[in-house]
Amino acid sequence: MNFTDQLFPETVVPVLVPLPSERPYSYAVPEGMEVVPGSIVQVPLGPRQVAGVVWDAPTDPVDAKKLKPITHVFDCPPLDERMRRFIDWVADYTLSPPGLVVRMALRAPAAFDPEPWIEGIEATGAEPDRITSARRRVIAAAEDAPVWSKSGLAHAAGVSASVVDGLMRQGVFRTVRLPPPPVVAEPDTAYGRATLSSDQTAAAQQLVATVERSGFSATLLEGATGSGKTEVYFEAIAAALDRGQQVLILLPEIALTQSFIDRFHARFGAPPAEWHSDVPPRRRESVWRQVAEGRVKIVAGARSSLFLPFKDLGLVVIDEEHDPAYKQEDRTFYHARDMAVVRASIGEFPIVLASATPSIETRVNALSGRYGHVRLTTRHGDAALPDLSLVDMRRHPPGRGRFVSPVLTTAITETVARGEQALLFLNRRGYAPLTLCRVCGHRFQCHNCSTWLVDHRLRGVLQCHHCGFSTPRPEACPECGTLDHLVACGPGVERIAEEIVEGFPDARTIVLSSDIAGGPRRLRRELEAVADGEADIVIGTQLVAKGHHFPKMTLVGAIDADLGLTNGDPRAAERTFQLLHQVTGRAGRTGLRSHGLIQTFQPEHPVMQALVAADPESFYDSEIDERRRAALPPFGRLAAIIVSANTRSEAEAHARDIRRAAPETDEIEMLGPAEAPLAVVRGRHRFRLLVEATRRAPIQTYLRDTLLHAARPRGSVQVQIDMDPQSFL
Ligand code: ADP
Ligand code: ZN
Repeated sequence: MNFTDQLFPETVVPVLVPLPSERPYSYAVPEGMEVVPGSIVQVPLGPRQVAGVVWDAPTDPVDAKKLKPITHVFDCPPLDERMRRFIDWVADYTLSPPGLVVRMALRAPAAFDPEPWIEGIEATGAEPDRITSARRRVIAAAEDAPVWSKSGLAHAAGVSASVVDGLMRQGVFRTVRLPPPPVVAEPDTAYGRATLSSDQTAAAQQLVATVERSGFSATLLEGATGSGKTEVYFEAIAAALDRGQQVLILLPEIALTQSFIDRFHARFGAPPAEWHSDVPPRRRESVWRQVAEGRVKIVAGARSSLFLPFKDLGLVVIDEEHDPAYKQEDRTFYHARDMAVVRASIGEFPIVLASATPSIETRVNALSGRYGHVRLTTRHGDAALPDLSLVDMRRHPPGRGRFVSPVLTTAITETVARGEQALLFLNRRGYAPLTLCRVCGHRFQCHNCSTWLVDHRLRGVLQCHHCGFSTPRPEACPECGTLDHLVACGPGVERIAEEIVEGFPDARTIVLSSDIAGGPRRLRRELEAVADGEADIVIGTQLVAKGHHFPKMTLVGAIDADLGLTNGDPRAAERTFQLLHQVTGRAGRTGLRSHGLIQTFQPEHPVMQALVAADPESFYDSEIDERRRAALPPFGRLAAIIVSANTRSEAEAHARDIRRAAPETDEIEMLGPAEAPLAVVRGRHRFRLLVEATRRAPIQTYLRDTLLHAARPRGSVQVQIDMDPQSFL
């Protein structure tokens, strides 16, 4: 050993830091410090200190002079082997730098240190030197519980804190330290067990069997809206909890699913821990920590909860598995449903995917036997699915400037007269999607994006739904100056509400969309009010379509059923079918007769026909056939490359360069570049390339090769990879 060798520290370890770097960085482990793969550590990075994770992957060779020591090891359970392999897998599959994926697992920095213990007091059994009535009350009150907070005991005894202080000085009470309180109570699997129907029992047994067999399996739980899928998968959850394992339930719109939390609470005697953007930071930190320690047994969360560091995850349930909200499309593009299946496979535990209208991908996996398939065929109890019919808008047109056909108006009148509720569904926020000047034809466009500004009358603004830009609605045209000649084109929910209030002045009308004033909390309250029957006519966007249980709702009208059919997306038909099926499924949740009326200009379209025939099988069959013929997912694979830049020419030039760099292969083809349908967003010009591959083709390697051979993005140019794209805009 020569002299220089001795200058090297004992060990050097790779540390994955939350940066877009392809590999972990090397750090020295100072003497006396102990780390293992998965340890969460603090390391210097330039002038900053950041949290990273000790990894088990090769690093780039590092110059000994540049090697810096780890500054701190957090007192925190290390990310286990399965979690690390999961992170590597996601990074590899999505072509994201692993550092950005690990960052999703480190979203609660304050939780890396243990939660502080809390201070309490307990009686020692000693007697005070002198007894007063106040002291007597304190000693008596203290008998109700073994440990108290000082102020809590004073309050219970009805005395001031100084009385308790006096008793402590005399040794009647002593200070004790208590572990931090659990964020949620332990679920009790025997608490509110429902009596299942025989169908439901059979379905539940199949799911419970997958939990008891343990090992990886994926099962599609398919059943009509209201068939009791939730009750059924609750049994699988109970089975996993009984084995002492943790459970994750993924929900597409957690901020709105108070009713789910309430139901869970009624079944298990305690709520699940929630994990989503609406949970306050301090609470999120406690959840993260207690999930890592295994103290939280059950989490209900948005897609990001997939990256929580569970100690012993034994089951994942994905509710509404077909929901597009599971796809994340910023920074790291990933599909939470698909990645959840991967997490289950790496973790060797079962996963349940629940839906009334499964995605084609999942349906194909179930049909091919790769996934188990458990079905519930009827609605629970005396609830019946609504009768659906089409309203041909060519034959029953609404009045001028109106959007509700006379057929639907009559149905609303009858529904309201019976004291029941009607839901009008239109997947468009605001008042009108476009405003133009009747004199010069000027159209109001966003300054930052190639989109029209949406008229929001209630707030008096024109707003861009892509960048959030908003401007007060002017009285005069900015182009020709003419006053009072601006016209709204097309409807949004606010405009439908205006029409309804005019036609039904005595009805209680309510508009529900995600941009409601007062935010998610107000929305939750409004949804509860609707469930309690405190509205006659509800007008809403897609967020009313999901999962809600409105007992008095007996009519659903889809205002513009064709809306999603025309956007050139390969999933347009599937999405439209799913959305209309879900929204009409809000009706008829109890024994009352119910109807769905679907306003369309294309009544002959296969989607519309499948809906009214209540024949999802034939719809799925023909849709699957079509995908197979076109080699579209899941029979082929797609990836999108999105190139953006401050100028159109830079974006286009770089996109062309990527195309030139693409290798020639038989199994993979690159199409484009073409200007994106959303050509400009937030001032950035966008071009897209589409990669089409056969099912087994090495698409990731192909993409890596391409990017390696293309020029490095310079200046404002940015390249994003979207594996399995869901959006083509
Ligand atoms: P899905 O998830 O399939 O839409 P849910 O589980 O929400 O169906 O059930 C629909 C409604 O029927 C809910 O109000 C639920 O409480 C009720 N329900 C379903 N199964 C049962 C059961 N076995 N006993 C009592 N109520 C049930
Ligand atoms: Zn904009």
